[in-house]
Amino acid sequence: MTRLLQGVGAASGTGIGKAVWWRKETPEVTDSPASDVDREILSLEQAIEKAREQIRRLREVAAERMGEEEAAVFDAHLAFLDDPAYTGEMKSRIRSEKKNAAYVCHTVTDEMAGLLASLDDEYMRARADDIRDVGGRLLLLLSGKEPFDPSTIPDGSVVVADELTPSDTARFPEGITGMVTAKGSRTAHAAIMARTLGIPAVLGLGESIDEIRDGDTLVLDGDKGTVLINPPAEEVEQAKEQIRLQKLRREQALKAAEEDAFTADGKRIHVLANIGSLQDLGPSEANHAEGVGLLRTEFLYLESSRWPSEEEQTRAYERVLNAFGDRPVIIRTLDIGGDKDLPYHAMPREENPFLGHRAIRFCLSRPDIFKTQLRALLRAASHGNLWIMFPMVQSLAEIRAAKALLEECRTELEQEGVAVPNKIPVGIMIEVPAAAVIADLLAKEVDFMSIGTNDLTQYTLAADRGNEQVADLYDAAHPAVLRLVHMTCRAGAQAGIPVGMCGELAGDPEMTPLLVGLGLDELSMSPSSIPEVKARVRAVDFKKAALLAEKALELESADEVRRLVRRFTP
Ligand code: PEP
Ligand code: MG
Repeated sequence: MTRLLQGVGAASGTGIGKAVWWRKETPEVTDSPASDVDREILSLEQAIEKAREQIRRLREVAAERMGEEEAAVFDAHLAFLDDPAYTGEMKSRIRSEKKNAAYVCHTVTDEMAGLLASLDDEYMRARADDIRDVGGRLLLLLSGKEPFDPSTIPDGSVVVADELTPSDTARFPEGITGMVTAKGSRTAHAAIMARTLGIPAVLGLGESIDEIRDGDTLVLDGDKGTVLINPPAEEVEQAKEQIRLQKLRREQALKAAEEDAFTADGKRIHVLANIGSLQDLGPSEANHAEGVGLLRTEFLYLESSRWPSEEEQTRAYERVLNAFGDRPVIIRTLDIGGDKDLPYHAMPREENPFLGHRAIRFCLSRPDIFKTQLRALLRAASHGNLWIMFPMVQSLAEIRAAKALLEECRTELEQEGVAVPNKIPVGIMIEVPAAAVIADLLAKEVDFMSIGTNDLTQYTLAADRGNEQVADLYDAAHPAVLRLVHMTCRAGAQAGIPVGMCGELAGDPEMTPLLVGLGLDELSMSPSSIPEVKARVRAVDFKKAALLAEKALELESADEVRRLVRRFTP
């Protein structure tokens, strides 16, 4: 009998295949005392050494199959092996608690993973999976067992597992047609890798996954997050047809994505990538991003155990700028606070963190931290086409203060003999309703504006972007948000500066005609959406899109807007 399971769509596309359960071996751990503490420490050190060799090999395989950026996750694994707070802590506990190495490895891994998983930040939570991956490897090595070899899984299989780690995913053979897990989220590294490899994935099925047996035929939909167990033959045929069409569409869109996107009547729309870490550089290139519309620099601060130095930041910015040559790279200055905390900086508790001391507000209050970043940006600038963007701006005074600090940094660097390019465009994000309302005034102070609909929507509709209970109220297609977008575009056009959008709305292909019609010059999104959005831009007639936008601005609700957009024929 056919069964339908619902999880989270983590990597897009339809997949069909035979289920292969992958139950990972987890060695038994007891808290028996260590009879010889030195011997336990030696076993741990040998396990660490072997783990290092294995992870280095894995890194090579991953680099070959997915590119350097995806392989970088294994650098994080190697770093854990040398981390005094992790393996160092294990050694000192073996000594102080006189327990066996496997037990201590298990408890320290569990504690650190638990701590990371409890943090508010999604990125840090995903690091919990990485440390479990490393800990599991060490435990296997300590028990003398060989890790299961995923390359033995036959082609045409859908891998079914409780949880998948980056180490697992990197070693799956290319013929795997899907991945299905009980645990995991869209931001887990295994999910990101599945997207890069183009393997459809449904994660987070929970206990319902136990209904799947080895050898069942599975049809999974990585967009809707569904898994069908043993569907009738005609449904399998339909899914096969869907896979054929998807492949064709993707190939066509990807091929066409090499070219710039113009509307049918000749308006150029720039389509750029949002980048949240250096790992996104590969996919940006593969999907033909015309540049970076938003580099969220938070990753540099979140991956570090202290404030990142000017030197470290300079190197990272140079890497991104070098990768894009003369294409524009918009780097956003630090946006912490709100839902993003740093483990090494105690933020005072706030009643309303999203309305509190975040982003540009925090940076202006800590010129030491802000100037380190600005200096690093200016030092890296000669490596490419840098544009600097300030987040969460709500007043002219903030722009002027930030620009004054930037000028101060330029003067200092020039006195130190560092060459800084003359003209670096400086812009702001429009993500506070007040900024959209006075966009005409702000536009006179900046070289460009970029609309952050993720925050603009939550502030306009007074609906927390992360609160499931008000998720039905949170929709960027609400006419109130669209009116603010329209006002901003008009203000930009009057001031003669470009206006882009880098919130999630920009990457929704269904919305492309409306956004073009509202007057946006540039759309920036997660790299995988670029080909589809470019294809939509080409299909649109700008004049018709402008009429569509005019109608949308008069509608009463987000639902009405979405219905109108779906009916629109370009
Ligand atoms: C936004 O608010 O739309 C945005 C792009 O910034 P972030 O999602 O990083 O807050
Ligand atoms: Mg924002």
